[in-house]
Amino acid sequence: MYQIRIKGTKDKYEYEELAKVFLRPEEFNMVTDGETEILIDAGEFGDTESDDTAEKKKIKNMVKQRLFQELSAATGMNPDWGILTGVRPVKLAGELVTKHGEAAARDMLLNEYLLQPKKAVLILETYAYQQAHTGKPPDRSAGVYVGIPFCPTRCLYCSFTSNQKGPEEIARYLKALYREIAFVGRQMIEMGYLAESMYMGGGTPTTLTAEELNGLLTHIRESFDLSALREFTVEAGRPDTIDEDKLKVILKHDIGRISINPQSMKAKTLELIGRAHTPDDTRAAMKLARKMKVPIINMDLIAGLPEETPADFCETLSEIIDYEPANITVHTLAVKRASRLIEQDPDFHYRRAETVREMLADADARLRGAGYVPYYLYRQKHMAGSFENVGWCKPGTESVYNIRIMEEAQTIAALGAGGISKSYCPSENRLERIANVSNYEIYIERLDEMIERKKINLFEY
Ligand code: SF4
Repeated sequence: MYQIRIKGTKDKYEYEELAKVFLRPEEFNMVTDGETEILIDAGEFGDTESDDTAEKKKIKNMVKQRLFQELSAATGMNPDWGILTGVRPVKLAGELVTKHGEAAARDMLLNEYLLQPKKAVLILETYAYQQAHTGKPPDRSAGVYVGIPFCPTRCLYCSFTSNQKGPEEIARYLKALYREIAFVGRQMIEMGYLAESMYMGGGTPTTLTAEELNGLLTHIRESFDLSALREFTVEAGRPDTIDEDKLKVILKHDIGRISINPQSMKAKTLELIGRAHTPDDTRAAMKLARKMKVPIINMDLIAGLPEETPADFCETLSEIIDYEPANITVHTLAVKRASRLIEQDPDFHYRRAETVREMLADADARLRGAGYVPYYLYRQKHMAGSFENVGWCKPGTESVYNIRIMEEAQTIAALGAGGISKSYCPSENRLERIANVSNYEIYIERLDEMIERKKINLFEY
């Protein structure tokens, strides 16, 4: 990267054009008069070439602190998460508590990582909840994810593997998926691994018909040893894909948890984000699920959706709280690279920061008031205000799968298009990623290759 500084002028267009004759735009940065250059010398904080990784990390954090302070002074902003940019702040809180004790961890989060006190408290209490309720994963246990990459329509903000296809393509996909399920089930039994949790997500698994769902769940039950299973979740996601027959199948297979995700209870918003369901669909799905006594229901909602005000969000939240689902997950809108939204309005999430701050503060207060506690939390890139997603639960109804995914201390076998498996090595406390392709057609074509990769790498520890 070339840093080019030209003093004595504010006009840089022509100089930039000349530089582009030599370099690609991403290969240089040009600063002229009137632009603020922030210059930090990392060497000022210690030996950046040191072989001591702890020392290097310390220096890196000091440079980040300085950069945070400089940018904060320049912009007047004071982001809640301080210098933390990673997606798993609870994992960091856990590492600090284990190493230094809770009081010291809190101090470090506030003074070294520069978190706002409410965020430091939030991750410490989330970690404490996880320790008290789920503890460490059993040895040679795994979480199993099965992906169904189909949805009735594609949401505006979607960056997942979601396809809108007819029965023939779905049948072709399921045939391939059955093979992967049979292989991984057998492999786990042979290697002495037991599934602690099963999670069927996507996409929207309830896009499948009741017969397809029944066939798939039967195949899973026949392929895996589920004797140590703590929970089985099926994301029903889109309320308009739920009907009595599908719920019957889900209950027949002893699935204890489903998600019904309204995202918003405002009709105009649902239309804007391309969900193709109405608030009444959510109401009907909830009514049906209650009537059929589905044990644990999670409901997702998103703060920061297009055109929504804090009052709209508040109304959605009130209605959701009234249903008393065991879990409520409050997401912050993330505008990811693969979404339609980023094409339409790449700056959308920057403008929504203050609105989202208000929405999340409201959610925090009202969910606590209604008896929910935070049990898992993660952050994503490109989130409005760089905030967080929080899973709230009525005590004792947390999802083990969601916690384990964020802890990164258990093997995850992810099956289907877009599934990213993670092989956990306990002696080195390290994860190795083994990714399936996300395009479902290529998944069908190259399944043998992906099975082979799992055979060699997934259960090697
Ligand atoms: S329901 Fe989820 S997976 Fe399906 S299109 Fe919407 S965001 Fe994507």
